[in-house]
Amino acid sequence: MIIVMKPESSLKEKEEVINKIKELGYRPHVIHGTTRDVIGAVGDERGKFVLQSLEYMSGVEKVVPILKPYKLASKEIKKEPTIVKIADGVSIGDKKVVVIAGPCAVESEEQIIKVALAVKAAGADILRGGAYKPRTSPYTFQGLKKEGLKLLAKARKISGLPVVTEVLNPETAELVAEYSDILQIGTRNAQNYELLKKVGQLKKPVLLKRGMSMTIQELLMSAEYILSEGNRSLILCERGIRTFETKTRNTLDLSAIPVLKEETHLPVIVDPSHATGYSKYVPAMSYAAIAAGADGIMIEVHPEPEKALSDGQQSLTPEKFSEMIQKLRAFVTAAEREK
Ligand code: PEP
Ligand code: MN
Repeated sequence: MIIVMKPESSLKEKEEVINKIKELGYRPHVIHGTTRDVIGAVGDERGKFVLQSLEYMSGVEKVVPILKPYKLASKEIKKEPTIVKIADGVSIGDKKVVVIAGPCAVESEEQIIKVALAVKAAGADILRGGAYKPRTSPYTFQGLKKEGLKLLAKARKISGLPVVTEVLNPETAELVAEYSDILQIGTRNAQNYELLKKVGQLKKPVLLKRGMSMTIQELLMSAEYILSEGNRSLILCERGIRTFETKTRNTLDLSAIPVLKEETHLPVIVDPSHATGYSKYVPAMSYAAIAAGADGIMIEVHPEPEKALSDGQQSLTPEKFSEMIQKLRAFVTAAEREK
């Protein structure tokens, strides 16, 4: 239910409403709007009509049900777009399009620092790199783990770029959060509800990738797991879905961007590297993502893609990446955004 407060309601009245929501066994989520605050009360759907009684409390304008199954992610509760602050001068979801770039995996100090400086020079805003890698085969490179996190922190210090890296399980979530600016939930974990709850409890922005066989509604329900634990700094990522097509690694569902923009206030970025699986297709799909309204893109870049320990085939060289960012600018302008 949404408890819409009167514009002139006092702090005390809001507190009383919050306490009443808790008393009734629901979780309050205060959302500060431009003209008024609303308080979302989420919990067991079956008994939610007891919340209707809040309509008679002082300071309350009205109480309305949230019709969508994803409550806190929906635009019913928050119409203004969410802007997620990552670091000083870097936010996702505002007018500026964000570029995340870096290798699939952190492989060595030399590699990550080289890429960090190269992508920064080319215009990237955030560095990516996996320290814990979820690989299809147990016999392939699994990541440098804690050592990889340390190298990422070093690359962040040297380049000044904030970093995003994947968290694979609840046990290592806090450790990963210590070393990174954004916690990535990968496609294989997008419905790992215990992990979603865990990152929802941490105070770090989360980048939630769409599961490769997940509907948009399921993606929003996964988002809801994170939001309902209290973490509002959430970014969604379309990274391609499984279809019958085999010419590309996945099929980039570009239409997910306008649909998500219609359904949710959360920022949406696109990962054309995992979506296509081939570096030669990455520029076209990056331009298309911006044209379709994405708030940013995430690109795999490796100094020597042919020697990469994972995903070399889809990784751009720093030179190709730089070229692509130059060309991207025209699409950014056409989409009435900035870079
Ligand atoms: C990644 O970004 O490193 C990754 C593993 O991507 P995905 O989870 O989308 O496959
Ligand atoms: Mn990868």
